[in-house]
Order: sequence, then C-alpha cells, then structure tokens
Amino acid sequence: MKEAVRAKELDQKERIGNFDEVIQGYTEDQAVEEASRCLQCKNPVCVEGCPVGIDIKTFIKQVQDRDYKGAYLTIREKNNFPSICGRVCPAEYQCSKTCVLTKKDEPFASENAINIHFLERFIGDYGARESITSGSKDKRLTMYKVAVVGSGPAGICCAGELAREGVKVIIYETLHKMGGVLQYGIPSFRLPRDVLDYEIDSLKSMGVEFKPNYIIGKIKTLNDLLEEGFDAVFLGLGAGTPSFLDVEGENLCNVYSANEFLTRVNLMNAYKFPEFHTPVNVGHHMIVIGGGNVTIDSARVALRLQKLNNIEPNTTIVYRRTELEMPARRLEIEHAKEEGIKFELLVQPIEFIGNKDGYVKKIKSLRCELGESDQSGRRRPSPIEGSEFELDCDVAVIAIGLSANQVLTSLTPELKVDKYKDIIVNAETMETSVSHIYAGGDIVGGEGTVIEAMGMAKRAAKSIVKYLNGR
Ligand SMILES: Cc1cc2nc3c(=O)[nH]c(=O)nc-3n(C[C@H](O)[C@H](O)[C@H](O)COP(=O)(O)OP(=O)(O)OC[C@H]3O[C@@H](n4cnc5c(N)ncnc54)[C@H](O)[C@@H]3O)c2cc1C
Ligand code: SF4
Repeated sequence: MKEAVRAKELDQKERIGNFDEVIQGYTEDQAVEEASRCLQCKNPVCVEGCPVGIDIKTFIKQVQDRDYKGAYLTIREKNNFPSICGRVCPAEYQCSKTCVLTKKDEPFASENAINIHFLERFIGDYGARESITSGSKDKRLTMYKVAVVGSGPAGICCAGELAREGVKVIIYETLHKMGGVLQYGIPSFRLPRDVLDYEIDSLKSMGVEFKPNYIIGKIKTLNDLLEEGFDAVFLGLGAGTPSFLDVEGENLCNVYSANEFLTRVNLMNAYKFPEFHTPVNVGHHMIVIGGGNVTIDSARVALRLQKLNNIEPNTTIVYRRTELEMPARRLEIEHAKEEGIKFELLVQPIEFIGNKDGYVKKIKSLRCELGESDQSGRRRPSPIEGSEFELDCDVAVIAIGLSANQVLTSLTPELKVDKYKDIIVNAETMETSVSHIYAGGDIVGGEGTVIEAMGMAKRAAKSIVKYLNGR
C-alpha cells in the first residue's frame, strides 16, 4: 500500500512571522495520487464517520477519474461548504477514523487512512475557482420568508438550503461580520478569510439578506419576527459563553477568556499589526490554559503576535491531562509543537498571582496524575497533594470550554432549555418548544464541530421546507 500523500505546508520558521495559511493543500497530481489509494470498498464505512453522510466513495472515484466537477457536485449534495470543511473538519475523529485503512482500536485515524478532508478541500477550492453552482431547485417556495438568527456554520447552512428552495431568508447577526466562530474564532492561518467571504458572497448572490449588528432578543424579539410575517425562524446562536476556572486572581489584568482574545485578534484586525493597532497584550510569558481547538488556536495566535511585536516567542499550553486526551485536532497539536509552543501537561492551575498594580505575574499550579475514565471516556486528572509550583506568566488565556449563548433564550422564557441552557429540540425535526421556531448547531447539545452544526441545520431546513410545502 502506498503511503498517504501529505499536503505541502509553510516552512515552520516562516509560519510564525505571519498569519498565512499553513497547509497549502493538494496539487492536482497529489489529489489524484491520494484518491488512487482508496480501495473503493464495497461497504464504504468512511461515510458512517461523516456527520452529513457525504458519498465519499463516489467523490473519491471521481477525483481518481479527474472528474472534479462531478466530485464537487457529489459533495455539494450533502455539504454546502466543502472548502471550509476540508480545512477545519476533525477528519481524524470522523470519516478518516472510520476508513478501513485505520486499524481497529486506534484512538485517531491512522497515518495510512485516506486524507478525505484534503481531497474535499481540493475539490471545494476547484468548485470555487471554477464558480460551479450546484443548481437551484424548482423554487416553489418564493412566497415564504424565514429569519435565521446567527451567521455561524449552522445559520449560513440553513440559509443556503432554504434559499435554494426559493425561500426569502434574512440572517440576523449580533457581530459586525458574518460567519460566527469561522470569523471571530478560527484564525486565518487555518481558514483564510477569502474562503469564508466566498461562501458568504455566494449566499448573497442567492438572495440571502444579511443584517449585521443586530441582536435578536434586544432589538427585536422572536414574537416581533413572527408578527412581522416570517413563516419560520431558525436559531443558530452558538456556544459563545466562555467558561472560567473559578480560582483566585482570575480577574487580574491580562487574564483573558479565549473568546475575548481571539475576537480582538480576528474580528478587530489585531493580526494585521502594524497596519491595525487593536491592542492585544501578549507579554513575554504567555500561558494558554486548556486542551481543545480553542487552546491550540489561541496559543498559535499568541506566538505569532509575539513575533510580530518583536518579542522573543514564548507561549506555553497548560493542560491537566496528557496529550492523548487533548480534544484538539492532532495536526494542529503537531503544528503547535513544530512552531515552538511549549506544553506543560498534567498541570492544574489553582491561582493567578498578581503584582501590586493588579497585573498577573505568576500562575500557581498543582501537578496531576490520571485516574479512572470519566463520562467522556478520558482518564480523569487528580491533583497530587503538595506538588504546588509556580509558572511565570504576564498574559494568560483561559480556553477551557464554551457554553450556550443565552442572550436570546434568557429573554424568551417560552423557549425550553436544558440544565446547560442549550435549546431543547425534537431531534428529528429540530423544532423547539415554540411552533415553527427551529434550532441547530452548538446551541443544541453544546460545543461541537462545524460539520455537526451544519448537519443539524440541514435537518432543520428540511423540516422547514416540509412545513412550508404543506401550508
Ligand atoms: C477557536 C475555535 C476553534 C474551533 N476549531 C474547530 C475546528 O477546527 N473544527 C471544527 O469542526 N470545529 C471547530 N470549532 C467549533 C465550531 O466552530 C463550532 O462547533 C461551530 O462554529 C458552531 O456553529 P454555530 O453556527 O452553532 O455557532 P457559532 O459559530 O458560534 O455562530 C453563532 C452566531 O450567532 C450569533 N448570535 C448569537 N445570539 C444571537 C442573537 N441573539 N442575535 C443575533 N445573532 C446572535 C453569534 O454572534 C455568532 O456569530 C472551533 C471553535 C472555536 C471557538
Ligand atoms: S473506507 Fe477508506 S478506503 Fe474504503 S471507500 Fe472509504 S475512504 Fe476509500
């Protein structure tokens, strides 16, 4: 069996001086070579690993045959945004993990598994370059209008599905730019903004209207929307509320939540320093706490900003388990290490210590050991008594998790939520406790992935179309 084709990457030293995309993507020959490793299994189990059930086997065959347009149309049947998903999908936990070339019981996709997401990205970029459209349906639903609240992957996916049916869609978004986490969270070295802009623009060309700087719940209520004549509403509110450690000193200056840190950098252009002067302190001893994608993104951003600000790059990730339990994408962990980020593993921060002016200077922590597995299947860390030690730190970013965005739900008591404040839906139709109001993405079931959010949004769109067709 031939070895997997690795996509070209920016040189490690060159990377940290800028925010350019790190993974360069396959060339045509590389894509065909990788596709040709696919066994075209009788029972393509890879499809089971894809949250939206892309016909992976067929699209890979089309790449083998150099029928890129065909491959694009195959993917688009199930996934509206292949260029985005091909860049950010955690394939090592999804389709590539279920590929038969991964050995049983391996925690992540094996190195030999087909790089399905790189192929998807190649095809997505081809489709964008060639302006291929997947054709609209017969547009019977032009007399209806639907409001979508939130412009993250869930919102834009639902909007796209409805617009293809002819429905008039208006997307309301709190922030001044569209895209949700794709815009304010994931850095451009993983998802270049022109890729996102292309998808947003293609929604515009389908007639979707965008209303930025618009908080539903505050400027208008859900009832206002229904009274204005919207036939249905989709809520893609996301999980934008950061969790904190709840330890002493957490409110010292220069202790950020990852959301604030990444928003300042991505949405307020701090990454374009010195062209833009949005202040973001990155200090000489930057510590990022956590183990997920948000942690790795924050650390890699911090390292780049240190370099751009002529500070000796010095960023450390502090995580209370080992690397094996880190929920972040494996390739991103690898990239972080290559770029020079340090890891303090099995470490639990217990206090932020400041100077007399109220600025953080040190983090007191305990060493941990791993015990029994918890509900997530990962071994639980337990702090070792008497193992206290201190780490130098003049800027800290807390990236230990996100929970439901409650701006709208807290003002709308008729919308039923669970104990985590996530919206409760009928899992089949994605309808909430209020008739004709649907929800999907991270606001249903908590922090997930881009493709999972899109999967839910597609289910909701299908229910909305069914409802409108029956009116
Ligand atoms: C830093 C970071 C990195 C990540 N990396 C990955 C990755 O590599 N791969 C992956 O698959 N997933 C990743 N994720 C997770 C993924 O981004 C989320 O699962 C996904 O964005 C959820 O989509 P969503 O549409 O539900 O919510 P969001 O993307 O959070 O979008 C929700 C939008 O709704 C808006 N909104 C909320 N309330 C209102 C209101 N009342 N009125 C108007 N607008 C409102 C918000 O402003 C926001 O723009 C990452 C997440 C973060 C934070
Ligand atoms: S399981 Fe792997 S080898 Fe088999 S069809 Fe899917 S991608 Fe190809």
